[in-house]
Amino acid sequence: MKVSVFERMSLAAAKHGAVNLGQGFPDFGWPDEILDEAARALKETSNQYAPSSGLPQLRQAIADHYGRHFAQQLDPDHVCVTSGATEALGAMILSTVEPGDEVIIFTPAYDSYAPMIRRAGGKPREVALQPPGWKIDRGALRAAVTSKTRAIIFNNPQNPTGRLFGPDELQIVADIAIEHDLMVISDEVWEHVLLHDERFTPLATLSGMAERTLKAGSAGKIFSLTGWKVGWIIASPENAAVAARAHQFLTFSTAPNLQSAVVFGLQGGDAWIEPMRQRFARALARMRTGLINEGYAVLEPASTYFLCVDLKASGLNADDETFATAAVEQARVATIPVSAFAEDNPSRHLVRLCFAKRDETIDAGVEAMARARELFK
Ligand code: PMP
Ligand code: GLN
Repeated sequence: MKVSVFERMSLAAAKHGAVNLGQGFPDFGWPDEILDEAARALKETSNQYAPSSGLPQLRQAIADHYGRHFAQQLDPDHVCVTSGATEALGAMILSTVEPGDEVIIFTPAYDSYAPMIRRAGGKPREVALQPPGWKIDRGALRAAVTSKTRAIIFNNPQNPTGRLFGPDELQIVADIAIEHDLMVISDEVWEHVLLHDERFTPLATLSGMAERTLKAGSAGKIFSLTGWKVGWIIASPENAAVAARAHQFLTFSTAPNLQSAVVFGLQGGDAWIEPMRQRFARALARMRTGLINEGYAVLEPASTYFLCVDLKASGLNADDETFATAAVEQARVATIPVSAFAEDNPSRHLVRLCFAKRDETIDAGVEAMARARELFK
């Protein structure tokens, strides 16, 4: 297996003293009260193994959260707490995919899907979305289904494109899953990071999908605390129980003090969601304006804290890997080459930048991007 593109670019950023706009993590914006609660729980409550499926109060708080936001009727049996969404994805893939199964992924796809499908003995089958629209096409999805297809991994909103798929596209995924009796592993970690006035719909709320959807969620994304690695699986009680058995032998359980602090955060009336969106939207506007002023063409995201720069439309004659390598080594800014998110003939003219940064980080990043542009003009 290769080194993940995020690790590769973060190590390069550290080595070259570069502004790190590669790996996605905010450098502002976490709620301090949640950190205080984690510290309190560490000192005052148990530091021994939590129940494998998560603290009962966290499973309840997650179920309630989805009731409030999306009118889903969930109870703790629908929830299994994991060590980040990455582990949730691993457990869901291992519990769904048997050797010889094919799994459809939409590319550009988050980097853990294909390796984990292979670890389960399955075969990833890519359906390439095309920039700049990145639309899901019914014919292309249907054409990827074979007699061996077991599941679709769907990521909405999608990293790295920033797309929030529309109701018509969700329906295509649901129709095809139902028509061919497929499971859908729905990676919804970006569900609350919406940059414009749009609404997110969980795939499981579409008719006929609750029984065939396994969802991944992440407190790391909701609270801008990516290092905590508290995530979860949401599924029907039967499917959640099967995924929970895979989770037992991956990490077994997750740090109890962090789970308690996430309970505290989720019960806080969701007051942090709207300010977080507004901060990220302002950060996007600042980075977008800065990059456009330096002559870059930018694709507009609806969600996530990533934007993609179109090198070709920016008049640069370099592929994404060449650009990203020179940018981090010579101009001192780390970006993510989008071709890392696909294996079959990927687009090679886009790089992804993380804008969840303080103004001064964004400004330093834009200055470095201006230097990078000079290298290829
Ligand atoms: N899925 C997607 C689409 C992501 O963007 C990320 C993190 N950026 C993850 C999963 C992993 O989430 P976690 O950090 O909770 O493991
Ligand atoms: N999900 C983060 C991103 O897209 C990175 C997570 C990781 O480094 N594994 O940048």
